[in-house]
Amino acid sequence: MGPGSPSGLRAANRRRVLEAVRSAGAPSQAEIAAVTALAPATVSNIVRVLCREGLLEATQEIRSGRRARAVRLVRGAGLVAGIDFGHRHVRVALADLADPAGHAAPDPDHDAPPGGPTVLAQARRSLPDGHGATGGLAEAGRLLDALLARVGGSRASLRGAVVGLPAPLDQATGAVGASGVLPGWVGVPAARRVAEHLGVPSWVDNDATLGTLAELRWGALRGIDDGIFLKLSEGVGAGLVLGGALYRGPDGTAGEIGHVSVEPGDRFAAVCRCGQRGCLETLVSTTTVTAMLEPLLGSPLTIAEVVARARDGHAPSRRVLADTGHHVGVVLAPLCTVLTPRRVVVGGELAQAGALLLDPVHAALTAAALPGTSHTPAVTTAALAQHAPVLGALALALDRAVASAPRRGHDAPVTVEP
Ligand SMILES: [Zn+2]
Repeated sequence: MGPGSPSGLRAANRRRVLEAVRSAGAPSQAEIAAVTALAPATVSNIVRVLCREGLLEATQEIRSGRRARAVRLVRGAGLVAGIDFGHRHVRVALADLADPAGHAAPDPDHDAPPGGPTVLAQARRSLPDGHGATGGLAEAGRLLDALLARVGGSRASLRGAVVGLPAPLDQATGAVGASGVLPGWVGVPAARRVAEHLGVPSWVDNDATLGTLAELRWGALRGIDDGIFLKLSEGVGAGLVLGGALYRGPDGTAGEIGHVSVEPGDRFAAVCRCGQRGCLETLVSTTTVTAMLEPLLGSPLTIAEVVARARDGHAPSRRVLADTGHHVGVVLAPLCTVLTPRRVVVGGELAQAGALLLDPVHAALTAAALPGTSHTPAVTTAALAQHAPVLGALALALDRAVASAPRRGHDAPVTVEP
């Protein structure tokens, strides 16, 4: 289905109408037509179909003394799931399709940050490092069912799910690429396996790309036309925003900054799980950071403990965080010279180090900046913290679920503008 085909246009128009309703809350059909630039007759047709499908409801209201037909998303029309796999965890979150995105309060019970959609429920489970697709999906499925039960839903009430994976994903084939990066998933046709396992329409995407999408829509990249999101956790990845849009690259695998080799010719550099030597990820992953300090501070050590010790003035912890920021900045610098982003947003587990990590990143960018230019980007922490990838998965699930055909199979033809 090409974007220019009749069915592609119909899906795009449905999405525009639903997004207009989601962002406005209860607009009139004339307001929807104004926002979407669709003809009033087209809006009327789409609204009628969406009402019949149970996604929208229209009510007569008095506004400024005049009768108007207000259109709303139906509460309980369906749920969407965001599922974020890390190398050692899975996080699942649920949102209502009818949620007015971006106007929601945080969920105080579930450690959710402000901004983003209302998260009805979310939970996180640890997974063994190097977990396989089958085991990971089984755990995600159990967690999903527990959360659905908590909000009174079931798999039948799910309109769609988006799964984020910390690996390059070929968007054409849906396969997990780059052998070794996520060994238990390599070669797995992730999109199909996830859909089969969950029994709902499913899509997969790279976790840093999803984090970028969430920060672009609700967080620190909002209103920024050119920016970079970095995920610094067990794995290291990046997402690019260029000209106001998410840049995925021709096959959807852009942004693998963790596997940029810092010193490709250094035969003493650590071997990365991708098979190269001296990748950025071998220098700055959470595992590397804790492994360097465990001989001094005891094992097992968490990033939160390292940051707490550094803030208390523990010199070795401060040194390791500063070096981590420096390495990140050195790899980022040529990218910034070429792409001239206005802002670099740092997310992932290491972002909790704040200025201890970000100042050295900024210093490395400044040192490498082209003399006479004013292009050194601002470096900030992600507004959505570690929740960015799962919230990005929810964002994409909301978009895709409203754009796709309904589950009950009564998608009537809609008049489409030529
Ligand atoms: Zn590598």
